[in-house]
Amino acid sequence: VKALVKYAPGAGNVELREVPKPSPGQGEVLVAVKATGICGSDLHIYHGDIQLLLRPPVVMGHELAGVIAELGEGVEGLHVGQRVTCETAVHTCGYCWACRTGWYNACGQKELLGYIYDGGFAPYCAVPARLIHPLPEGVDFVAGALSEPLACCVHAIGELAGVQAGETVLIAGPGAIGLLSLQVARAGGARVLICGTAADQGRLALARELGASETMVVDTDDVVERARELTRGDGADLFIECSGAPAAARLGLEATRRCGRYLQIGLASGPFELDLARVAYKELRVFGSLGQRWSAWHRALALLEGGLVQTRPLVSDVLPLSAWREAFDRFERKEAMKIVLQPV
Ligand SMILES: [Zn+2]
Ligand SMILES: [Zn+2]
Repeated sequence: VKALVKYAPGAGNVELREVPKPSPGQGEVLVAVKATGICGSDLHIYHGDIQLLLRPPVVMGHELAGVIAELGEGVEGLHVGQRVTCETAVHTCGYCWACRTGWYNACGQKELLGYIYDGGFAPYCAVPARLIHPLPEGVDFVAGALSEPLACCVHAIGELAGVQAGETVLIAGPGAIGLLSLQVARAGGARVLICGTAADQGRLALARELGASETMVVDTDDVVERARELTRGDGADLFIECSGAPAAARLGLEATRRCGRYLQIGLASGPFELDLARVAYKELRVFGSLGQRWSAWHRALALLEGGLVQTRPLVSDVLPLSAWREAFDRFERKEAMKIVLQPV
């Protein structure tokens, strides 16, 4: 079968290759993949600058949905033909502080699907049964492939920074993570403002459709002033940085109210200057978030099932796996919102 393989470390070294069809081992299931999302981190793997454990040659892809094709020995509670998605943390060390306290998503030895274990840019993918989540009815494979980034946002907002009804949340960066965060915050009862650059006009329009009460363009709007205006001069209760842009991080420290919360999800390409004294002066609570845990997946799928979050509108392109190069290029050039690949 043909799969997208990162075959060596460094820049590039990715190609569509003939690989053997995997078979499920003890406690594993074989998923016939129907849709797999391209993540920003896949671009980092492609360029060779990812800061997570990677073991080439490996089939890439960690945002997948499909149908169970085969059950390995000892698997119970699942059946062939079941529509599913799956978690990505195949192995964590079990011994570090993060693992022992239940925050295994932050384990430094985390071995992920699509990084260490063969992932979803392939017709078949064998994964441990404990990582499987059934897809809710009414959630198609393309929408289901976005369960993973949605679970990241549920983890970040629901399990770390928290959101309460009536709060004002400001989000920077209307990409997939920003638009999912927007909907998770809305589902929690918050009013959401979101800002982007002039190049983000289309994404900001989508944000309004998905429930943003106001969108702003940082090049022309005074975002800090507007956040204060809407909150009797205080500023946002919670700021969520989803862009990885240094200017957005700086804006967040200003636009957040005293004793408010600052949540960092976006990844900058390197260190940058930030006035951390603002954190002390305003007594901000600062959260960082990486990946997700089982509990966040559980809630993410409940949000999808209840129709409180929609992932399908975020997908701008569904392409065959064979068009991966064009898809990666378009994603990189920001010509597409979220691209999902399908094996043929
Ligand atoms: Zn991802
Ligand atoms: Zn660990």
